Amino acid sequence: MIIHVDMDAFFASVEQLDNPEFSGKPVIVGGTSNRGVVAASSYEARKFGVYSAMPIFQARQKCPQGIFIRPRGFRYKEVSIQVMSILSSFTPVIEQVSIDEAFMDVAGCAIFGTPYEIGVKIKQSVKAEVSLNCSVGIAPLRFLAKIASDMDKPDGLTVIAPDEVAAFIETLPVSKISGVGKQTAMHLEKMGIAILGDVKKYTREKLVARLGKYGNRLYELGNGIDRSEVNVHRPVKSISTEETLAKDISDKDRLKKYLLKHSEDVGRQLRQKGRKARTVTLKIKHSDFKQVTRQTKLPCYTFSSEKIYQAAVNLLENYPLSKPVRLIGVGASDLDNKKQAVQMDLFAGSDGGVEKWEKVDTIVDAIAEKFGKDVITKAGLTGD
Ligand SMILES: [Mg+2]
Repeated sequence: MIIHVDMDAFFASVEQLDNPEFSGKPVIVGGTSNRGVVAASSYEARKFGVYSAMPIFQARQKCPQGIFIRPRGFRYKEVSIQVMSILSSFTPVIEQVSIDEAFMDVAGCAIFGTPYEIGVKIKQSVKAEVSLNCSVGIAPLRFLAKIASDMDKPDGLTVIAPDEVAAFIETLPVSKISGVGKQTAMHLEKMGIAILGDVKKYTREKLVARLGKYGNRLYELGNGIDRSEVNVHRPVKSISTEETLAKDISDKDRLKKYLLKHSEDVGRQLRQKGRKARTVTLKIKHSDFKQVTRQTKLPCYTFSSEKIYQAAVNLLENYPLSKPVRLIGVGASDLDNKKQAVQMDLFAGSDGGVEKWEKVDTIVDAIAEKFGKDVITKAGLTGD
């Protein structure tokens, strides 16, 4: 059986957790400028009709009393790592598909009980360790597990048993299938496919002729076949961050400050994943939207923010800046294959500031608690 775990209103719930005075109130996380959109809304805010991807100005109209918060990406990542670590204690066959979602194959997990019992334990562990609710969906097919986790949100637990699959598929609105957007749903409806059971009106060949590659997948889903498995090895190939500047900048020294911030972020993400990179990329988009990238190969693999920053600065120095810059970013790629011990210059505070060395011991302890001691080695003990 496959389990899909999805945190409830994740960013908003983390904000309510960190700010108890917000609990029970409409919390809306998103860009606070007029251009911004809602990244997450608490269930209290949803009652006012505020949902993800809605423009912030519209959210303000619908919910003037809402508590609007800028996203704190680092904090969400931190909690995400804790959650994924809890899930990994049930099975190594786990695929994280977004910051707050993962699929798990629990075929080999009988030691923890039936899939339903495992689902209960997952919810209990997440609640006990990070004080957040998640919703769990359990089904023999991956696409159904995802649908199931959404059926009883928040704090839900839904099982679609193997002998229920056929009947469930028969009446499932196609719009519920992950990947079927509004456009596709409308297109399918014109073809007489509103529920997955309708797929049987068509042969595989006809569906492929009408829908291309997706016709094949839809045909199989309609017939209870889902070839997508829980893919454990989805290796990270590169890590990058970028930022559209509030105003165009032509001054290299000012741009370097952004490089510093983004190099720190990239380095931190590498260290979190225990990976080192050898290629550093500078990305620039000019005021005329023309985009350039420059790359350099380092003499050896690193996850040091400082080394990434120096490489990015060199790239910038050597780049003839003829037009103002609208967007700037830093990337690290060409990652090594083995996991590295995490070195301790890293643990940035939740606001992005780097912790001081004297705090290292407490930090080491905190990290050991979160990630397990085997990834912890104090600086000096690891070669870099
Ligand atoms: Mg979620």
